[in-house]
Amino acid sequence: MENTQRESFGTMLSPIRAGGHMLRNRVIMGSMHTRLETEPDSLAKQIAFYAERARGEAAILVTGGFSPNAEGIFDPEGPRIDDPDQARHLRPICEAVQAEGSLICAQLLHAGRYAKIEGCVAPTPIRAPINRFVPREMTDADIRRTIEDFAKAAANAQAAGFDGVEIMGSEGYLINEFTVTHTNKREDDWGGSAENRHRFPVEIVRAVRERCGPDFLIIYRISAADLIEGGAPADEIAALARKIEAAGADILNTGIGWHEARVPTIAYPVPRGAWRKAAANIKAAVSIPVVASNRINTPAMAEDILSSGDADMISMARPFLADPHFVKKAREGRADEINTCIACNQACLDFIFSDRPVSCLVNPRAGHETEFRDTPAAQPRKLAVVGGGAAGMATATEAARLGHDVTLFEAQDKLGGQLNLARAAPGKDEFDETLRYYTGQMIKHGVKLRLGQRADAGDLTGFDHVVIATGVTPRIPDLPGIDHPKVATYAEILSGESMAGDTVVVMGAGGIGHDVAEFLVTGSAEVRSADTFCETWGVDPEFAASGALVGDPLASTPSRRKVVMLQRKTSKPGAGLGVSTGWILRNALRKHGVEAIGGVVYDRIDDAGLHILVDGKPEVIAADTIVLCTGQEPERALAEALAARGVPVTMIGGAKEAAELDALRAIDEGVRLAQGL
Ligand code: NAP
Ligand code: SF4
Repeated sequence: MENTQRESFGTMLSPIRAGGHMLRNRVIMGSMHTRLETEPDSLAKQIAFYAERARGEAAILVTGGFSPNAEGIFDPEGPRIDDPDQARHLRPICEAVQAEGSLICAQLLHAGRYAKIEGCVAPTPIRAPINRFVPREMTDADIRRTIEDFAKAAANAQAAGFDGVEIMGSEGYLINEFTVTHTNKREDDWGGSAENRHRFPVEIVRAVRERCGPDFLIIYRISAADLIEGGAPADEIAALARKIEAAGADILNTGIGWHEARVPTIAYPVPRGAWRKAAANIKAAVSIPVVASNRINTPAMAEDILSSGDADMISMARPFLADPHFVKKAREGRADEINTCIACNQACLDFIFSDRPVSCLVNPRAGHETEFRDTPAAQPRKLAVVGGGAAGMATATEAARLGHDVTLFEAQDKLGGQLNLARAAPGKDEFDETLRYYTGQMIKHGVKLRLGQRADAGDLTGFDHVVIATGVTPRIPDLPGIDHPKVATYAEILSGESMAGDTVVVMGAGGIGHDVAEFLVTGSAEVRSADTFCETWGVDPEFAASGALVGDPLASTPSRRKVVMLQRKTSKPGAGLGVSTGWILRNALRKHGVEAIGGVVYDRIDDAGLHILVDGKPEVIAADTIVLCTGQEPERALAEALAARGVPVTMIGGAKEAAELDALRAIDEGVRLAQGL
């Protein structure tokens, strides 16, 4: 159970010694790829990004990964720290962080067989399933040179002003590839026995300690659960932890799952705190501080893990995108003002994978710190916002924060709009935190809330400006029989207004179609328990087995309800889902026996079910319920009435453009509009 004493967080906020440093609290901002280094004005952007998070009082900030040499870069643009002159350019980042009272460590990451480059290397030349490049087998000389490269890279970081380094030994990158038999088939001193497979990381830690002296902080990120077949069992992981401690590491951070693992590790389907026992196993083996990580996103969860003794420190990465001031707010008794990471991955990992700089769905300032202002509006205006969904709440919050006089009208008697539907999908009840945050901020900044009031043009006279954020309504396709009693919209199903029968056809295989299908075959409560999560994905709840797996992550767990999902496009259903979450959703549906069919033509609906054409041939799919997930239409009636009266109006979110509307675009548009008023 999470600690319910939300306002204390005594353990999390207490100092802790690590090596020669007394840390101001037990929170680390974990390493994240930001891609800010590839942006114009990259240094200014990185300084602003890291300094803002140091002001938020994390004890240590860990940078994104720097390769210690040319072969270890993540992709052709991946950052390196093998050149002392280049490293020195990073000094202003270190100084900005240290001026705010945090320590900063550079992460040293050799991508090994995950490097998306010609000439990548690995202990054994086995291609990674997620990389098209086949690695070259490292020679003994390569291995010894790479150990030296790590030591030089650490020395470069030290000379640039970093307080320490984090040596990346998890997630399936080079070091991790040496430690497990799955990727290390060597028969020399670097393979075979656990002693030999552990030699590479141990020698790296020893070399870095020797080169950088006793006061330089060394964090080693150990793989606490590989989540792949042929991964390490708990006793080997504990043995490696003890050797890493003896070689001179000050802190053991934990990593969960290789990038090629078929078990979700950080996205919203993973329950909060699901991996804490994996950290606890390591803590039992060593006396240096051990850090728990992955799916820890509230101070209450952090405190619970720390006070129960499962770990000594907490690492959070994405929560510092969602709210750079996470720790400061907790210390000041303002935990309810924390903007919580909802583990959607939409603007962080998915942006990185599409070569965009990192940002955050719930906090569009993340990664764009230099573009936003905090100075109050020179000319405060009287603003009406119509619609209390994500777009309206974000606009009202930001405008009121900047000093505008804001009134928000919402036709329903509660805030949230589409978020109230989205939250019903399994794992997406994290949206409750977004609702809590924006509601609290609107009250704090004096937004006048008019709930249960469907504003008409008459209510909106006397405002300097009206923002229309009235959102969307479900699209009803023009099809014979569409008004049959067995037809329901996704909104009716997710809100509980309509109940689905035992056989269901979902029309539309977009994001909402997938969410509805999962809702129908699992129900939201099922995936929220850590034990059920482990059972569903074949994970050993004690994290003792090899790779922490006791079953096939993709084994089927059929549902009582039969669900068929359809789309007209001939492309693969679900192809447009998020890069880092779509595979989870597609696999979850497959495991539960959901059938997805593309390339259909809808014909009609009657008592027999849904009549379709597949390859020109008529078929009927029997169904108790047919759920429409066929997109949305903008809700613009009010905007048109106001425009006719000459009232200055701006439309945002779904009211402006319903296609591909999601909370990411809604919040981004709202905050940016308010900034520009
Ligand atoms: P969407 O992803 O655009 O999907 C709409 C679906 O409706 C498509 O499958 C489309 O496929 C079908 N469709 C469109 N017009 C139709 C018509 N007239 N008759 C029958 N079928 C029709 O939109 P959404 O599912 O409504 O989601 C809205 C937004 O939220 C999207 O941006 C989505 O990415 C996002 N979202 C994402 C997730 C997620 O990633 N898990 C979850 C929820 C929402 P065909 O035209 O091929 O039939
Ligand atoms: Fe968290 Fe989503 Fe923001 Fe990423 S985009 S930091 S997952 S809320």
